[in-house]
Amino acid sequence: MRAGVRDTGQATARAGVDRPIRVASALVASLNPALDETQHCPRCGATPAKDPPRSLRCDACGFVLFFNPKPVAAAIPRTASGEIILLRRGFDPGQGLWTFPGGFLDLGESVEEAARRETREEICIDVEITRLVGVYSKATERVMLVVYEATTTQEPETTDEAPTVQAFIPADLPWGEMAFWSTTAALKDLLDHR
Ligand SMILES: [Zn+2]
Repeated sequence: MRAGVRDTGQATARAGVDRPIRVASALVASLNPALDETQHCPRCGATPAKDPPRSLRCDACGFVLFFNPKPVAAAIPRTASGEIILLRRGFDPGQGLWTFPGGFLDLGESVEEAARRETREEICIDVEITRLVGVYSKATERVMLVVYEATTTQEPETTDEAPTVQAFIPADLPWGEMAFWSTTAALKDLLDHR
């Protein structure tokens, strides 16, 4: 993931929208440290009302800002013989642990395009997406992950983001060293489909 999962959520501005303010939840407040630290309305500088982690509202000027989970696109590349290509992550979160290539969507590309681009950037192969494996999210996390199965005929290479790359037969997958809960869940869903 190029940008890492430390991002503070995607901000969406909708001026003038009136939404009820909910009671702040201590459980989810830490989901949005950027909102926690905001003292002033981005438009007029007045003190805004906050509804952590989801929104900010300024009664002085009507500005409303919503924060949403960020979509992450990923591909599980498979070789012609069905091996599954995984990488050891070069950076935290999950440095040294196994996952498949993926990262944040850029504006101007589709989810599928982002999955192909991240795969090219991280392990230097072009992939053809074959099907959706699943969508993975939790209320306690800032990202939602969309995972595709993909095929490739190219040989992967290592990068700073992926200092180790290896093709596994399904029986040899390193289940005890997966980077994220969603890595394990998506790989299980991938194999259950067969
Ligand atoms: Zn304002």
